[in-house]
Amino acid sequence: MAVWKPLRTRLSNHVVRRWIVNGRPSSADSALVSFCFDDFYHSAAQEGAALLGGLAMQATYFAAGALMGRTLDGLEHFTRNDVAELSAAGHEIGCHTFNHVRIPDCPALQIEEELARNRTFILETSAAGPPTSFAYPFGAADIRTKHLVSRQFGICRGIDKGVNSGLADFGQLRAVEITEAQTFADLCTYLDAAEATKGWLVFFTHDVSARPSEHGCRPDQLKAIAQEIRNRAIRVMPLCDAAAEFAPLGDS
Ligand SMILES: [Zn+2]
Repeated sequence: MAVWKPLRTRLSNHVVRRWIVNGRPSSADSALVSFCFDDFYHSAAQEGAALLGGLAMQATYFAAGALMGRTLDGLEHFTRNDVAELSAAGHEIGCHTFNHVRIPDCPALQIEEELARNRTFILETSAAGPPTSFAYPFGAADIRTKHLVSRQFGICRGIDKGVNSGLADFGQLRAVEITEAQTFADLCTYLDAAEATKGWLVFFTHDVSARPSEHGCRPDQLKAIAQEIRNRAIRVMPLCDAAAEFAPLGDS
């Protein structure tokens, strides 16, 4: 069993990634980039937004309502004021379930409740209206949950590495994590690929600090990649706007 289970998980993930539940063909005539901050941390709302704002870039912040005001593993999550400020500045607030649950482990009713509760939370804390983008907590998705969540969100983001191009699965968009371990050159190879395919590159990270967590990055890393994107004249938009640009509804 010890051998079988990892094999089964690998096979399952392989199938899930390729099981397109909401395919939309790209009609973009040039590359696009989106930045996402998952969970999200106070440092991402402050330092991250200040860095991107300095380059007139807006991002998508994925909120799980239960994390508001909490400090876990020494990292401060967002405040109510962070949500209000970000949405007022034009950033997108996306849904990440209310309790940051691994949804493949949950029955359908619980998932529906998680989505409804978080939607209400976002409506109450932001001025942006109901969320239209979703990110799978832990990147965890299976075919059942991809279908279930895609019925409510036209934009669902995973964590499988790569650039979205051609027929993109809006039920599990690909993304590239920015961490302290990622080199600038690594990140640039994804920009190269996005430009070559007129694709949509979605970056995501967590905290933004001089000493980041394993899943966060330093401010200088975020600044360097954002500046590189600017130098290449690649457009940057939150997921909701990039989706409309990349694959307008009604074109397919
Ligand atoms: Zn998360």
